[in-house]
Amino acid sequence: MALEFKGVSKSFNLDTGQELTAVRDINFKVEKGEFVSVVGPSGCGKSTILSMTAGLYQPTTGEVRVSGELVTKPNPHVGFMLQKDLLLPWRTIIKNVEFGLESRGVPRAQRRERAMAELERCHLAGFENHYPYQLSGGMRQRAALARTLAIDPDIILLDEPFSALDAQTKLLIQNSFAETIMEAGITTLLITHDLSEAVIMSDRVLVLSERPGTVMCEMPIDLPDRAHPLKRRQLPEVHQHAAEIFTLLRLDQRAA
Ligand code: ADP
Repeated sequence: MALEFKGVSKSFNLDTGQELTAVRDINFKVEKGEFVSVVGPSGCGKSTILSMTAGLYQPTTGEVRVSGELVTKPNPHVGFMLQKDLLLPWRTIIKNVEFGLESRGVPRAQRRERAMAELERCHLAGFENHYPYQLSGGMRQRAALARTLAIDPDIILLDEPFSALDAQTKLLIQNSFAETIMEAGITTLLITHDLSEAVIMSDRVLVLSERPGTVMCEMPIDLPDRAHPLKRRQLPEVHQHAAEIFTLLRLDQRAA
C-alpha cells in the first residue's frame, strides 16, 4: 500500500485558545501507481491531508502510513509540488532539478545524469542551462515536476499545480504531467478545485465535506486513457462524474 490514512483527525490550537478541527476520521488507501484527487470546499482540510502525508503535521488521532511506514517526521520519500513552482531564480534549470539530490549528498556526475534524464522525461531537454525567468509558466511547472521526480519519491503530492496557468497552457500541462507520471509509475495525490480536472487526471476522486473534512465519497473513475486527459476530456462520462461531484458538494453545503 503506497498510502494509508486510518482514523485520522487533525485539530489546531488557535491563538484565541480555541481548538479548530480541520479534518475528522479520515480513512482511505492509495495503491502503488494510483492517481487520486482530493476535492472539497475551501478550508475543509485538503492541504492538511497533504501536509500530514509529507510528515509536516502529525495527526491528532489516527495514523498515516507511506509505503507501510508510519509517518512521524518530514518524509524524504514524499515529493511535494505547489501552485508556485518555487524554482530558485539564481540557479539554472538543471541546477534547480539537482537541488534535492545535492542536499542528499549525491555525487556531482550522478546527480547531473539523473537531472538530465528527468528533464528529458519532462520534455525540457535543451533548456537545462536556462534560468527560470527565461521559461514560460507551463515550462516552469514541468521543471518543478522534474525536480520533484529527481529524488525518486514513493509518492508525489500536487497542491493545485495548474491553477495559476492560463486555460490553454493548463490543458497542455495537465496532459504532459499525466503522461510523465504514468510513465514513471508514481503514486500521486492531487488537490484541485477544478472538478473536471480531478476526473480527467485520476483513477479515483475523494470528495470531502465542509470542515471538519470527512470523506463523503470515493468515486472510482473507470475511464480509459488516464495518461491522456485531453482525450478523456471528450468523453461524456467525464461531465457526468463532474456533475455528480458538484451535486454532492452542493448538497453538503446546504446541509451545513
Ligand atoms: P483546504 O486546503 O481544504 O483549503 P486547509 O487544510 O488549508 O484547507 O485548512 C483547513 C482548516 O485548518 C482551515 O480552517 C485552516 O484555517 C486551518 N489550518 C490549517 N493549517 C493551520 C495551522 N497551522 N494553524 C491553525 N489552523 C490551521
